[in-house]
Amino acid sequence: MSEALATSNPVRAQSERDGAFADLHLHTFFSDGTFSPEELAERGKRVGAAAMALTDHDTVEGCERMAAACQRHGIEFAAGSELTAELEGREVHLLGYFLDTANEKLREELRRFQTVRESRVEEMVRRLNRMGVPLKAESVFKLANCRSPGRPHVGRALVEEGLCASLDEAFDRFLKKGRPAWVPKCKIDAEEAIELIHHAGGLAVLAHPVLNQGDELIPDLARLGLDGLECFHTKHVGATPEHYVKLAERHDLLVTGGSDCHGFSKGKPLIGGVKLPLIYFEKLKHAHQQRAKAAPAA
Ligand code: AMP
Ligand code: ZN
Ligand code: FE
Ligand code: FE
Repeated sequence: MSEALATSNPVRAQSERDGAFADLHLHTFFSDGTFSPEELAERGKRVGAAAMALTDHDTVEGCERMAAACQRHGIEFAAGSELTAELEGREVHLLGYFLDTANEKLREELRRFQTVRESRVEEMVRRLNRMGVPLKAESVFKLANCRSPGRPHVGRALVEEGLCASLDEAFDRFLKKGRPAWVPKCKIDAEEAIELIHHAGGLAVLAHPVLNQGDELIPDLARLGLDGLECFHTKHVGATPEHYVKLAERHDLLVTGGSDCHGFSKGKPLIGGVKLPLIYFEKLKHAHQQRAKAAPAA
């Protein structure tokens, strides 16, 4: 462990000595964000990010463009994706980092999730229609203009068609869990998701544990091969990052973090609001290199 990380308050100590930071949780318009990869890299440059990872839901399509844009700005880049998984009946989001985006099995599984996402949008629209809300699936697909459509696209379409006043209203009235147009998402078993990420040469990280009240799942996920914990996140306020850094140390997990910026889709772009001290990105990269040496990707 480095000297800085051995102090009583590792997170703050490192941040104070070295302002360099990473943002490892970002979405583009290849899923439910609003920025192009180039706009996202440009924004990253503007806020001073030294490293970025793209983690669109169920797709790696934006990674090539994002890698090129980051390279132009001198920003380090890791290709990733955010998968929706399930463990013990609970939904967990798993981030894959340093994925081989050409991996055949990964591409096949992502295609499968995307097909289910499309059917899910159609089902959400059917439910809205049954309630007398005249939204067309075509409007949602046209607006989404990507292979990984989701609830935010349905919400935005409802606003654009004048059927809801705001995205918040769309979620509150129709799309939130338990609301009439809510349709559960296809979830891969967490163990299979971790295996898939490893098979594609990546590292598997539990996203925003606070959003899934997932603390008690962490030991089980660690046993299943989880590599890291997203300790820094927009929704992790106050002492929460430090709480998760301690949990990560206890379970021998890597520490990651990111803003979960979706561009303008949730109001103000969140990029720049979460600063993962760069040392943690270096450790993640090192772990990936060690893994690649020990077991080259399939
Ligand atoms: P999906 O993957 O289709 O279930 O959609 C999940 C996305 O919807 C995530 O990016 C969430 O942050 C977003 N989301 C969930 N609840 C809300 C909400 N109340 N308002 C706006 N976006 C939300
Ligand atoms: Zn999202
Ligand atoms: Fe998530
Ligand atoms: Fe996300």
